[in-house]
Amino acid sequence: MSDQIKLALVGLGTIARSQHLPSIAATDGITLTAIASRNAQEAGLANYTDIDALLAAEDVQAVSLCTPPQGRFAQAASAIAAGRHVMLEKPPGVGVSEIHALRRLAQAKGVTLFTTWHSREAAVVETARSMLADADILRVDIDWREDVRQWHPGQQWIWQAGGLGVFDPGINALSILTRILPDPVFVTDAQLEVPENCQTPIAAAVQMSAGGKAQVSAAFDWRWQGPPQWDIAVQTTTGTITLKKGGAELWLDGVLHSSSEDHEYRRLYARFVELIGRGESDVDVMPLQLVADAFLVGSRSMVEPFHD
Ligand code: NAP
Repeated sequence: MSDQIKLALVGLGTIARSQHLPSIAATDGITLTAIASRNAQEAGLANYTDIDALLAAEDVQAVSLCTPPQGRFAQAASAIAAGRHVMLEKPPGVGVSEIHALRRLAQAKGVTLFTTWHSREAAVVETARSMLADADILRVDIDWREDVRQWHPGQQWIWQAGGLGVFDPGINALSILTRILPDPVFVTDAQLEVPENCQTPIAAAVQMSAGGKAQVSAAFDWRWQGPPQWDIAVQTTTGTITLKKGGAELWLDGVLHSSSEDHEYRRLYARFVELIGRGESDVDVMPLQLVADAFLVGSRSMVEPFHD
């Protein structure tokens, strides 16, 4: 047990329970010993209502933040200042600049900072990346639609400033996009549809360019009814590579090529253990940068109010 990294989890909500708890339990080298959550508790662990009380009382070496992005900076900065390694749920924060600040703080303190992008760990993402490494890409279409009432029931923070709205799932597509395309992606235009009683969009269309050569179009929509659609189609001069089901399946010219089970969060924790062991950080803001740019260059239209 002595070589185990003792870990604390902050924010015991939907994703912490469905993915983090089982994935930590299945990962060698790391053991969950404490929780900080204002309202929730986990039996058999040391429970606190805030991270500062936890950091003062527990000898954990690492902290995993599963709270909403608003307020994440203060939690991460506290943990880093206390000399603890930090893993951040996606999106790593409410803005890009605070992540650069955290990177500097972690570097100065000599601790690991890991900005996770769970969708990049989906089954076929690395296969698609190697297939596209030398491809001549003609265009990319992202179709990312789900029913917000099914996937985010009662979550107020997604509608508040910094909550990203439909970009909360949409950023998963952007994290895959920026992993599989060989050329840098930048935003050229965007249209954001914001319910009149909310601060964040319920739907968005984003136009991007891959290296100034290929057009990338993304459609994000939370008003979708029925099974979610999480697809990225990359047209190349030799055929079309489509990632379906959020990167669980790879299709070549309409024929299923490969698929595999979901081990996204197990891979994230294995990587966190590896980064800590090596004394390294892994900080990538690019998916969040694209969302920020969509907000910067995009036009907004008000649409009907949203009620959960
Ligand atoms: P959630 O169900 O709302 O849980 C977040 C937890 O954080 C809450 O249970 C809450 O616990 C705590 N919290 C601390 N400050 C909060 C605040 N100001 N407002 C609301 N809750 C606060 O959210 P989630 O779906 O787990 O998402 C958390 C993060 O994981 C987000 O960044 C999200 O993008 C990411 N994520 C979510 C999913 C998903 O499918 N849901 C998938 C992948 C990633 P206490 O009240 O006990 O403090």
